[in-house]
Amino acid sequence: MLSLSAALKADLEQRKAQSLYRYRKIIQGPQGSFIQVDDKKFLGFCSNNYLGLANHPKVHTAFIQGANQYGIGSGAAHLVTGHSQAHHDLEEALAEFVNRPRALLFSTGYMANIGVINALLGRQDLVIEDRLNHASLIDGGKFSGAEFKRYFHGDDSALKNILESSIHRRKLVVTDGVFSMDGDIAPLVALSTAAEQHNAWLMVDDAHGLGVLGDQGRGTLEYLKLSENQVPILIGTLGKALGTFGAFVAGEEALIETLIQQARTYIYTTAPPPAVATATLASLQLTRSESWRREKLTFLIQHFRKGAAQLGLKLMDSITPIQPLVVGNSEKALEISQSLLKRGIFVIPIRPPTVPQGTARLRITFTADHTEEQVNQLLDSLAHSI
Ligand SMILES: *Cc1c(COP(=O)(O)O)cnc(C)c1O
Repeated sequence: MLSLSAALKADLEQRKAQSLYRYRKIIQGPQGSFIQVDDKKFLGFCSNNYLGLANHPKVHTAFIQGANQYGIGSGAAHLVTGHSQAHHDLEEALAEFVNRPRALLFSTGYMANIGVINALLGRQDLVIEDRLNHASLIDGGKFSGAEFKRYFHGDDSALKNILESSIHRRKLVVTDGVFSMDGDIAPLVALSTAAEQHNAWLMVDDAHGLGVLGDQGRGTLEYLKLSENQVPILIGTLGKALGTFGAFVAGEEALIETLIQQARTYIYTTAPPPAVATATLASLQLTRSESWRREKLTFLIQHFRKGAAQLGLKLMDSITPIQPLVVGNSEKALEISQSLLKRGIFVIPIRPPTVPQGTARLRITFTADHTEEQVNQLLDSLAHSI
């Protein structure tokens, strides 16, 4: 048998040879349109801080107030002594925001997805997922012990075929609302019809739609006008448009109570710091009241798409702040990213297995902090780097 080090090193070397090796950049300041990396300032186009709230002064102040009132650590899990008034207030505000009876906070979106699918399904059940779902949804489905099936991206008739032949106890259909690496929106009306016709439950993870889509920022369900009946299980994350950290599940009373009793990633983990909840309450208020942030994003996205078309760049079909430029092979994606860095622009290349083989890309994203001038700078740098 190979020693641990010999076995691991061989795999690492192989990754390097395939341009798949990942490196971390060390960030020295707050998130904003500019980010400080290695003592240099770059114009960043790859964060999920879509509304520009990650370093908003009101969110900052609320965080400090939370720390003053509650201290830093929550001390225990939610079911022990970790569930503070701040967490509870945030759950109520989130439930009201997405128009559902209850919401339950999780430490991260990854944990929410694992916890929900595993609390709802067991061996007699079926989970059906879009092929391009986020890794946390795929992992949640696989860990659950339920039969696991995938359908082609956005293909509701493929979903129907799977549902028709199912004789399982419970059937759960799971999809991203906005796909994290492509930026397109799931055909939720068609998916919900298919689910309804076959007595399946639909679960939507709206990590990239919440705060961004819909006039009020309530996300993909507001944008497509879907009711709670159509989508009984809604996941939102707080580390993206809302600019803080954490996640929640929203839905009916029985769903939330089931999760409190049974979701292992909820029960067996320390509650997040209460100050994160007070900060998120502030960012939720800004998300609701400052619709100019969504309007500005729409403007920047359209401006970018127009400019990219003039340069002959082929973008994906996306109206969201996620505007990927697929270049195909990983080496090329890495090269373009490095060339952009030299021009002061920071965009991370996304490579397999995060995206399917042969679809390595620059996942360009926008935030309400960006200006038109900065988008022009990005376009100009792309023209020189591709
Ligand atoms: C980012 C993301 C998650 C994970 O959320 P975290 O809070 O970062 O763990 C889950 N689902 C989707 C679709 C995401 O994009």
